[in-house]
Amino acid sequence: MPIVGYTGETVNYLRLFSAQSANTLDIETFNRGGYVEAVEKNIKVETISKVLYPSDSVEQGRYLRLIQQYFFCSCVINDIIRRFTEDHTDFRELPNKAVIQLNDTHPTLAIVELMRVLLDVYQLDWEEAFDITRKTMAYTNHTLLPEALEKWPVSMFEKALPRHLIIIYEINEWLMRQVREHFPNDPVKLSQMSLIEEGYEKKIRMAHLAITGSFSVNGVAAIHTELVKHKLVPDFYELWPDKFNNKTNGVTPRRWLLVANQGLSNLITTHIGDKWITDLSELRRLEPYATDESFLRKLIDIKKQNKIRLAQLIDNTTGITVSPDSIFDVQVKRIHEYKRQHLNALHIVHQYLSIVEDGKTLPQPITYIFGGKAAPGYEMAKLIIKLINNIAFVVNNDARVKDQIKVAFIPDYKVSSAEIIFPGSDVSEQISTAGYEASGTSNMKFAMNGALTLGTLDGANVEIRDEVGAENFYLFGLTAEEVDERHKNDSHKPWDYYNSDPRIKRVIDALTSGMFTPNEDKNLFAPIMQNIMFKDYYMILADFNSYVAAHEKIAQDYQNELEWAKKALLNIARSGKFSIDRTVDQYAQDIWHVQSSVDKE
Ligand SMILES: *Cc1c(COP(=O)(O)O)cnc(C)c1O
Repeated sequence: MPIVGYTGETVNYLRLFSAQSANTLDIETFNRGGYVEAVEKNIKVETISKVLYPSDSVEQGRYLRLIQQYFFCSCVINDIIRRFTEDHTDFRELPNKAVIQLNDTHPTLAIVELMRVLLDVYQLDWEEAFDITRKTMAYTNHTLLPEALEKWPVSMFEKALPRHLIIIYEINEWLMRQVREHFPNDPVKLSQMSLIEEGYEKKIRMAHLAITGSFSVNGVAAIHTELVKHKLVPDFYELWPDKFNNKTNGVTPRRWLLVANQGLSNLITTHIGDKWITDLSELRRLEPYATDESFLRKLIDIKKQNKIRLAQLIDNTTGITVSPDSIFDVQVKRIHEYKRQHLNALHIVHQYLSIVEDGKTLPQPITYIFGGKAAPGYEMAKLIIKLINNIAFVVNNDARVKDQIKVAFIPDYKVSSAEIIFPGSDVSEQISTAGYEASGTSNMKFAMNGALTLGTLDGANVEIRDEVGAENFYLFGLTAEEVDERHKNDSHKPWDYYNSDPRIKRVIDALTSGMFTPNEDKNLFAPIMQNIMFKDYYMILADFNSYVAAHEKIAQDYQNELEWAKKALLNIARSGKFSIDRTVDQYAQDIWHVQSSVDKE
């Protein structure tokens, strides 16, 4: 698929691969009456690339994932070799002609497949093959979550990829030699760093393989890279400190501003010209308008129009009527316990109870908007979606609330709905437990569309706050260090919060009382509540009060329309760092050592 960049004069190819059977219909079997049998093999082959991320909750799904990963790696490596050998014979030239950027551990088998081709097809010497491979591969880490770090059972390799398993063992021998040299007489280091995890079931640690087989290892936000170096793989950082580097993520301003928010784009271009579209740092030139009331009024009007469009999407997809005059408080992202959609839900319940039980009136009506999919095998995530929908039903239909709170869960969250959601948002909920969100990118899309972040010091939130200014960002919650401390000492006691804090007790009791399951089993949400009350691994209760306080500050600040618009403008003007153009330039300069054709001119 040819890809042309915005105003680009070069074309790059996006190569797409799919699995197809070499044999057509087995006519012999077919004529015998074996109609299913005749096509069975073809279907089995085509299953390899049928779906992206097949569910890994069952053994067959995990096996299919491994086969799929190998299939795509093999396609890519063999295609690169085909193109390289068109005009080269010396493989020592490969690292000067190609860099393979491993996007997470999913394509790590590319390291082993390249080794296999160099060794078995081109008969290179092992040391030379590994030297070439290591100089060609670079790895980007995307997560610190232990459950998301890929480990494949050795038994699966024995069945599907026996030759690759031998090569992995050889790479491990090479690694163990390096470890012995660098850390003499330290057998613990050997087992900690090994590519093989010993135990009841032997497993291959794909992240260790990716780090060992690459010349560069990067994280995707400053705090994330520090955690990769010092918490995830400190031994590898000690062994090879120069390999590690940061590349903070970015998003495309063409889609997320120019196309998605045409009202705002036109306002920007009218005042500072259109250079911002390809150089987002230009947005800084909007800063002087922070004190220009007529400009701020235009900004407010554009936001209002975008909120009307979003309200329409909500009505069309959920049947829920929301007022564009309320605060649009938005959390859209994949559903995950570390992203804490349930903290948001608990706060809504708190606010609801403060109205119906304490007779409080909110300073400003508010609409809570959610969107996001759960992984097919992630039961808890699906239950969180159900919880939010049940809270929405109760809150939206309680006359005592007098429409001060509305809750809507937009179904089927995807890029086309995201394009309508970001421009129509006032508040961007970025509330992951500190230390768990590698970067986040919706935080960037929200900021450049003039939504203010309510967030923890996690991922790129940290850098967004540094850029836009602490006074234009609503911070709450424990730091990553404080979370780590509580985990290490096992000092977070959810029951202490419950027993000593009447607001927390009331919310937890309401959620276990059946208040939000009027027509269903009152224990429906017990798994969520039990997780919070048993360990509260994601520190929901530890962060609850500072989250409530930050919400109260937002409601107060929103009252002053011009002050809010000023903060929104400063978020827009100072979001230039989060253009993907900056990110790609840094990959090009620091890792790939290539010059852009624009700079060459
Ligand atoms: C940006 C985006 C994401 C990533 O969101 P995070 O909040 O950073 O996890 C996910 N899905 C869609 C459709 C997006 O546009």
